Amino acid sequence: MCGVVGIFGRSDVKLQLYDALTMLQHRGQDAAGIMTCVGGRLNQRKGVGLVKDVFHTRHMAELEGNMGIGHVRYPTAGSSGPALAQPFYVNSPYGICMAHNGNLTNTEELLEHLFKSDLRHINTDSDSEALLNVFAHELHLLGKLKPTPDDIFESVRRVHRRCRGAYAVVGMIANYGIVAFRDPFGIRPLVFGKRQTDNGTEYMVASESVALDVLGFQVERDLAPGEALYVDESGELHLHQCVENPRLTPCIFEHVYFARPDSIIDSISVYKCRLRMGEHLAEKILRCYPDHDIDVVIPIPDTSRVAAQSIAEHLNVKFREGFMKNRYIGRTFIMPGQKERKKSVRQKLNAVKLEFKGKNVLLVDDSIVRGTTSREIIQMARDAGASKVYMASAAPAVRYPNVYGIDMPSAGELIAHNRTEKEIAELIGADCLIYQDLEDLVASASEGNASIEKFDCAVFDGNYVTGDVDGLYLTKLDAQRNDQAKSNNKRSTSPGNGEVIGLHNPGGEAEYRQ
Ligand code: AMP
Repeated sequence: MCGVVGIFGRSDVKLQLYDALTMLQHRGQDAAGIMTCVGGRLNQRKGVGLVKDVFHTRHMAELEGNMGIGHVRYPTAGSSGPALAQPFYVNSPYGICMAHNGNLTNTEELLEHLFKSDLRHINTDSDSEALLNVFAHELHLLGKLKPTPDDIFESVRRVHRRCRGAYAVVGMIANYGIVAFRDPFGIRPLVFGKRQTDNGTEYMVASESVALDVLGFQVERDLAPGEALYVDESGELHLHQCVENPRLTPCIFEHVYFARPDSIIDSISVYKCRLRMGEHLAEKILRCYPDHDIDVVIPIPDTSRVAAQSIAEHLNVKFREGFMKNRYIGRTFIMPGQKERKKSVRQKLNAVKLEFKGKNVLLVDDSIVRGTTSREIIQMARDAGASKVYMASAAPAVRYPNVYGIDMPSAGELIAHNRTEKEIAELIGADCLIYQDLEDLVASASEGNASIEKFDCAVFDGNYVTGDVDGLYLTKLDAQRNDQAKSNNKRSTSPGNGEVIGLHNPGGEAEYRQ
């Protein structure tokens, strides 16, 4: 998963882009990048690491320009490294850069076509670089010295025709403006807003509304699926629907895990949705175990906290913080190798023993993926003296891989793949395991916006909305994503020089820091 932002301002936007990326940091910690434009010249800084580590004062000083875009990256197909940091750039036509959240499902076909028919060189195997080149090629074919809003929208229309999968995109055309668009299913989120200044209106587009809130931009609305936005060089906003039959089918996992709870996505409050998930789960517990003996509900920090609080409230039992998290430890999920992940769970979370001693505890996580966290945490609860350990997942069982931009293990590595709930409970060592029902998860989300008829729930039901994901695709994905592939990938990723030649790189560094 990644986070994207674009700002058209009336003065330098670098600090706002930086602040926005820090607000979107939860969407990706692998790499970060900003490109700005001043007087037709593009400035960029990108590299591997957190926002605070990639941008130093000397880099920021030189990222001048009243418009710019930014990206935080989370490696989806297991590959990481400096060459994949975004935004990506192509010099023709005009000088275009782009940042992408999502994952295309026809990258291979696009890369072949770009190479053989469009005669374009793609430097990585990144779907985002392919997407940028498709857009650039289509804009180039229109052959204008200066692109009009209609030209931009026609190019987006052609991108929709050629690209499949999930894409929420922000781009910048040197000298001319900021462009943004969302795929025809609106799988990944993208929201825009504005702010009045003495010098005129400023516009911002970002993955999550929290970034707009914090920067003082007023949210206008989410971009519709298939819709494109263009803010031209004079600061005028243009909006256009670029597909015939858009069908909003947003990814429900944003509400389960990814998005910040203070964001509102497609008019659904993520926080409220998580509260409702807890309420539904409590109802299921009461329905299945009317005589339950749960003494205390304990969340597995951080994401599950909202749902856990709501479960406790509806079960009318105590809520306690039984695990403390060390915030200074990296994320366990993306570590290649099960041994590292297990060790890291223990380093990251420590039990407050007295909250477990002699009690029947209900542990709540937002989701169970490989089951590493649950297994370790349940053992920690027992070591801390719990009498019985029950486990609840605020999401249904994750049984299928994600192909739309969320880093999920290969199917075989998912604990719920081809297993019953009873088998999973035994494997993680729980006295009882209770999963959210899919229809309750969907109800929790759609209660926030009844006009959404369908969500992308593929990781739970294997139904991929774009209709082009078949067995062959999933087998190939499997080969890219399993632990073995990831560790090979890590070994073969060289530090390299991912900077784009011909651009101005503040700080003048030839190498990215690892
Ligand atoms: P696991 O230990 O593999 O079962 O993963 C479950 C934990 O990972 C939960 O605590 C979630 O909060 C978190 N999680 C779920 N999905 C993702 C994801 N795509 N990337 C990173 N963390 C995740």
